[in-house]
Amino acid sequence: MRTIAIVGAGESGAQLALALQHAGHRVALYSDRDPEQIRSGAITSSQCVFSSALQVQQPMSLAQASTGDLGITGMHLHVEGTETHPAVDWQGTLDRPALSVDQRVKCAHWIEAFIERGGDFRVEKVGVQRLEELTATQDLVVVCSGKGELGQVFTTDRAKTPFDRPQRAVAVTYVKPEHGRREETDASMIRMNMVPGVGEFFTFPGLSVNGPCQMMVFEAVPGGPMDRWDRVQSAAEHLETSLELLREYFPHEYPRFRAAVLNDPGACLRGRITPVVRSAVGKLPSGRNVLGLGDAVMLNDPLTGQGSNNATIAADHYARAINVHGDAEFHEDWMARTFDEFWRGWGQFSTTWTNAMLRQRKPWQHEVLANAQQHDSLATALVNAFDDPRTLFPWWFDEEEAKEFTDRIVAEEGARLDLRDFRSTLGQFATGVTVVTTRTPQGAKAGMTANSFTSVSMDPPLVLWCPSKFAPSLADFESSTHFAINVLESSQHMISRQFATPSDDKFAGVDYTEGVAGVPVLDGAVATFQCRTVARHDAGDHFIYVGEVEQYLRAEGDPLVFHAGAYHRTALHPDFS
Ligand SMILES: Cc1cc2nc3c(=O)[nH]c(=O)nc-3n(C[C@H](O)[C@H](O)[C@H](O)COP(=O)(O)OP(=O)(O)OC[C@H]3O[C@@H](n4cnc5c(N)ncnc54)[C@H](O)[C@@H]3O)c2cc1C
Repeated sequence: MRTIAIVGAGESGAQLALALQHAGHRVALYSDRDPEQIRSGAITSSQCVFSSALQVQQPMSLAQASTGDLGITGMHLHVEGTETHPAVDWQGTLDRPALSVDQRVKCAHWIEAFIERGGDFRVEKVGVQRLEELTATQDLVVVCSGKGELGQVFTTDRAKTPFDRPQRAVAVTYVKPEHGRREETDASMIRMNMVPGVGEFFTFPGLSVNGPCQMMVFEAVPGGPMDRWDRVQSAAEHLETSLELLREYFPHEYPRFRAAVLNDPGACLRGRITPVVRSAVGKLPSGRNVLGLGDAVMLNDPLTGQGSNNATIAADHYARAINVHGDAEFHEDWMARTFDEFWRGWGQFSTTWTNAMLRQRKPWQHEVLANAQQHDSLATALVNAFDDPRTLFPWWFDEEEAKEFTDRIVAEEGARLDLRDFRSTLGQFATGVTVVTTRTPQGAKAGMTANSFTSVSMDPPLVLWCPSKFAPSLADFESSTHFAINVLESSQHMISRQFATPSDDKFAGVDYTEGVAGVPVLDGAVATFQCRTVARHDAGDHFIYVGEVEQYLRAEGDPLVFHAGAYHRTALHPDFS
């Protein structure tokens, strides 16, 4: 049991506090506002949370706060045509629904749950001096102050921060659309509208302080015709400006909101955000360190709706990292490493994509968006990237890759089976997760995440796994004599993500030892099997690699489980506990 102070009880801080409290740590949660002040204050976000983050989100026992009640099922994209590019209009379905619960509702709820379970909650605006006091008495201090000024204790990481000024003027308005009006069929979708050179408008349903509402987000290109929020003084003017912009730039959306009323007096938000990534280790004047989480250290523009998702996934990762750290000191290196794991496994993809979306689209990206109008599978891939931005890499960012990806996904449309549905059905078979590693004769390391691992024979001891013929590291496995199956431990989901995504160095930050034939054997795995390749069989769009086990190792710990497209942990069946 460790003593941990968490500063900021927003999306990341409140969830981290609950997770650590649940694990038995002594947590003190500091917030500049109490739950009632949060509930009755102004909105802070549009907080659309997609399914990967919902999977690890802290529970909310609140009426209607579920995807069953208010799930967001997909996205309708409309890109206004220009002289060079025709208009684009299509919709795609999310594999699993997303959900937006007003942060005023959910953060207040999470704080109250923390207090009910005996948590030490303090209303206090924490400054640097107070951080000094906390670091002197607590094992660990985590700063989750969002866009608040306390984030200044973390220095900007210039290499990860391409902008030095806001890329959009942002405004959010929660409304009740016209009373009694019948909603369109796709009212459960995100309606994303883009007008090149002007900005974006998107809207989706969500749960607010007084029940369901419609959340509207305006993203104005600075200095452009939509950048007129600075002169807005009151809530009434805010709503008026929202409707004015709809009428002028998104006229097809206007009729739905023509008679909209503000959801509540606090349902307006305006501002400008400079995207920034900071060092996650904050050094205080005394030389002691604090760890940063959420927007305090990785602040993106809301255009892609990723911030709450990032905050949730990072909070989950930090909680697991703290739990497995045992009694050891929370040293500066551990802090840097904990953030780096999150950055490499998730944050970099979300940030790179969001920053790219703020820029002018590349020619091949226009082409992909246009092709998605003809091909549902492409639209589906693009929409589901909002849930998992890693899936856009590398193809969204490279002309050749984009063409190859489009060709492949379009070819799949002609397949005998509905491949999406087939994949989902196969996903009902729960598996462990492995990273298969190898070393080429030239000495290069390679690895990829795979759940196709199976034991085959006891005598001789044989196992198999199946790489895709399209896997970028396939050539490395083809040329090498050995491979190692590393069965991941439940906290290693970031490593799973890291090895599942193309990158120049998949091993960055990963500890390993060299096994047979120099093959990397990953630290922390619950089991490893070092194998000599004895057969390779052709099997459709995959190969089957059969290996004879030359060495194996078993370690304590629970395995990471993959089921229905999401990571899980094992739990003893209640019938047998
Ligand atoms: C306009 C807009 C729209 C957005 N839409 C989406 C979206 O659709 N989907 C999505 O995923 N993300 C969205 N985001 C981003 C998302 O809201 C944030 O990324 C997320 O809330 C970050 O969580 P956090 O815990 O880091 O910070 P926050 O949730 O902002 O929490 C910080 C908390 O710390 C408190 N605090 C600050 N300073 C102190 C202090 N000194 N002492 C004590 N307490 C302090 C604050 O009051 C606050 O409660 C949006 C953001 C904006 C601005």
